Amino acid sequence: MSDTDERIEKIRALLGELEGELRTPDDRAFVRNFDALEIPELVSQVVRFLQPLLNPYEAAVYWHMFELAVLRSGDQYCRVSTRGLMNGVVRSASGQGDVLSIQTTRGALQGLEERGAIQRVGEPTREGTPYRVLLPEEIPACCELMKPASPAATTPVDVVRNLDYYNVRENRLKVFERDGYLCKYCGKQLTRFTATLDHVQPVSEGGDNSIANLVTACLHCNSRRGSRPVMDIINEAEKRDT
Ligand SMILES: [Zn+2]
Repeated sequence: MSDTDERIEKIRALLGELEGELRTPDDRAFVRNFDALEIPELVSQVVRFLQPLLNPYEAAVYWHMFELAVLRSGDQYCRVSTRGLMNGVVRSASGQGDVLSIQTTRGALQGLEERGAIQRVGEPTREGTPYRVLLPEEIPACCELMKPASPAATTPVDVVRNLDYYNVRENRLKVFERDGYLCKYCGKQLTRFTATLDHVQPVSEGGDNSIANLVTACLHCNSRRGSRPVMDIINEAEKRDT
């Protein structure tokens, strides 16, 4: 084994140790991998529903932790230290140097915890304190903002909206739920972010946006199908599988 190989082995072992430390068996239930397609939607939700609830320092610290826990490791967990957050995350607005004060940094972490945007999941060590970074859909105050407008505030246009299962987001979800988030054609398990809707009878042939004319499909099957009849695709998939 060369020196480089040995060094890489050591680094791997170290990483393994760190990861083991970070996650207790109970935490594993929360571990979730993010589909690349989910990320734009998550970022959009943070900007629209969480950021308005935060002060600028809290927002900066949240984005920093979001990057570590969601974009880098994909499991919503990260380890940060007050000292690490003071330097290089965001510039102080106090006019007394770029580094945040320890009070501002602690205040930001505390503010995020109080809002339910982050959760401390273990004791601090030399590497920092382990946190779970929550997503807008898991933060009660954000869920309030994410709720669709109340029925009283809506207009008669709603009658049309209620019939349109293609263009109205909450109706689209009903179709996905009916189909168990499974692609009707290949059976792939999808998520809210990867599922697409497919018209059974294409719009070009007079198909409408009613729930009966829509099925859940993965992007691949949906784009492959174009306006071909549904049965062709199912028969083809069955032939392929047998
Ligand atoms: Zn599919």
